[in-house]
Amino acid sequence: MSEVTWKHSLSHAPLRRIELGNGLALGGATGHTLMMAGPCSVESEEQIRAVAKMLVERGVSVLRAGCFKPRTSPYSFMGLAHEGLELLEAVRAEFGLKIITEVRDATQVDAVLQTADIVQIGAKAMWDYGILGAVGAAGKPVLVKRAFGATVREVAKIAEFILSAGNESVMVCERGIRSFEPDTRFTLDLCGVAWLKQHTNLPVILDPSHALGERYGVPDLARACVAMGVDGLLIETHPCPEEALSDSAQQLNFEEFRAMHDSLSAVAEAVGRTMI
Ligand code: PEP
Ligand code: MN
Repeated sequence: MSEVTWKHSLSHAPLRRIELGNGLALGGATGHTLMMAGPCSVESEEQIRAVAKMLVERGVSVLRAGCFKPRTSPYSFMGLAHEGLELLEAVRAEFGLKIITEVRDATQVDAVLQTADIVQIGAKAMWDYGILGAVGAAGKPVLVKRAFGATVREVAKIAEFILSAGNESVMVCERGIRSFEPDTRFTLDLCGVAWLKQHTNLPVILDPSHALGERYGVPDLARACVAMGVDGLLIETHPCPEEALSDSAQQLNFEEFRAMHDSLSAVAEAVGRTMI
């Protein structure tokens, strides 16, 4: 890796610390593994308030939920768009949660930047240079998801685009890559995670929900992810997954989420980290 190609995310630089406000931080020397959880999509006020209440009761501080959904079919639910952002702002005000929500294309980036505490760039949007330029010029932390057909170097270079545009707060997320295996939705690339930890200073987040695509293995995978010593998890949970308008098969119900969450602190401690 030449100096010209990698100015910001080289492994010999100190680990990158990201401030989320109100004393919440990840990366750097924090040793934190941050839980970010919530439904795939904001669907209604009732749904998003129920999730927010459950998370706050468990001491989780970051709510994930999408309003602009990139879907595989044009006939699928595409999210509540601006109405969804307003619902997220309302739950932030009521429950004091930080919000991570995704931008699907550059046309919504300004609106998403206004609402989000962390802007999520989805796997299918990783190469949208309109988004990259806009979030690079903004002051909000950014989570970039690795496209399912991108190498680890390619996602690190996308992070480098945002960093080189002046935004220091960038983390990357492994959410599964496409392999020859048809019985799981994607293949969670933990070797790639080891590479990112070894060769970059970027905080690394793991998303087992989108990787497997089915809820049955998500708690086991989440424990494996925490055992990798990563900086955070993205987990999908919904009050009634069977009725979810997107990613229904992989979202945990609240009982399943609580049981999984209860088991994670001990795993984190075993690898010298703290679940927050
Ligand atoms: C999501 O987080 O709901 C999502 C759409 O993820 P991905 O971009 O990884 O498919
Ligand atoms: Mn989803």
